[in-house]
Amino acid sequence: MSESKQREGVLFVVSAPSGAGKTSLCRELIDSFADLRQSVSFTTRQVRAGERDGVDYQFVGHAAFQQMITEQQLAEWAQVHGNMYGTSLATLEQGAVEGVDLLLDIDYQGAAQLKKNYQQGVFVFILPPDLAELERRLRGRGTDSEEVIRRRLKNAEKEMSQAGWYDYLIVNDDFQTALQQLSAIVVAERCRASRNPALIK
Ligand code: 5GP
Repeated sequence: MSESKQREGVLFVVSAPSGAGKTSLCRELIDSFADLRQSVSFTTRQVRAGERDGVDYQFVGHAAFQQMITEQQLAEWAQVHGNMYGTSLATLEQGAVEGVDLLLDIDYQGAAQLKKNYQQGVFVFILPPDLAELERRLRGRGTDSEEVIRRRLKNAEKEMSQAGWYDYLIVNDDFQTALQQLSAIVVAERCRASRNPALIK
């Protein structure tokens, strides 16, 4: 039996302002842990170059997204940078059925909704070293227009003001150090006594 199947799956919820390096950190984390799967969100945002539908996101139109809200198919959803994003209940249920831990890369509004409903979730906030570095990284990506970059920078301060209620904070100054810290959180949370009742018996 896989290690995670002896216990309930863990929801690892990771938030950060865009440009803090969260996507790369999450990708590396998924590659280095068995039984940890990336939750694929729904979004109304345009597909970026290199992104694949169903892998990076499930790309849907506004009407389809609205319908999911109306039919209460979403565990959380939020408007971020002018687009809609959400995690479906089905994704969370599928993870539970398969006995895998899920990694959710979502914004603070969605994370707050999950914090209310999934008290066993683990909430991690990734901070950039400072705002100047965040701007440098956003420009360096070369994927977004000037208008989008401006909007993201404006939102970053508001997002970072939410960091205080998360369970863990990581400053992504050095990528490998941040990855080590994130990995340590996964390992420790998997070993939590309250998550392993089978071992206590
Ligand atoms: P991006 O457009 O750069 O991929 O993501 C923009 C923001 O939306 C990021 O902060 C990301 O974490 C957030 N996001 C992605 N998926 C979801 C989701 O399912 N729910 C919420 N609330 N935010 C999401």
